[in-house]
Amino acid sequence: MTDYSDLRIIHYPDPRLRAVCAPVETFDEDLAALAARMLELMKAAPGVGLAAPQVGIKRRLFVMHPPGDDARDEVYVNPVVEGLDGAKEAEEGCLSLPEVFITVRRFTRCRITAQTLDGRKIERTGEDLIARIWQHETDHLDGKLILDRMGPADRIATRKAIRELEARFQS
Ligand code: ZN
Repeated sequence: MTDYSDLRIIHYPDPRLRAVCAPVETFDEDLAALAARMLELMKAAPGVGLAAPQVGIKRRLFVMHPPGDDARDEVYVNPVVEGLDGAKEAEEGCLSLPEVFITVRRFTRCRITAQTLDGRKIERTGEDLIARIWQHETDHLDGKLILDRMGPADRIATRKAIRELEARFQS
């Protein structure tokens, strides 16, 4: 079995964050171990969601642990998000963009279809923060970052933090 203990969260502008990830085809112990390691890294960060490319793995899955009393660890494999309705702007952060916060417009309600770690198909509808996390994490699987969704005000406000991340990556 693959040892994922060396995996770390990678930061912008690491080019691995820009890959369009490949579908998961094998639902085995390796996949479960990868998801477990991703959950561990996400919680330690701490964060509410983490996609595989954020640990340098170009495959279509993400994990999440939304805040709340009845929140559970969740793993979504090969997710597809379809917008249902509503649009709202809210500030988002990203574990691959420390110190960067960007106002992003998202659907307020959407549907997700995905597979579980054992390949079972699931379909759910979510609202507000849940819907936002689904959209944010699914973006990652197509190489999209919140940077791609920011307006002119955020472009100015985040310039320094982004330059610092670029400088850190070079060195
Ligand atoms: Zn992110």
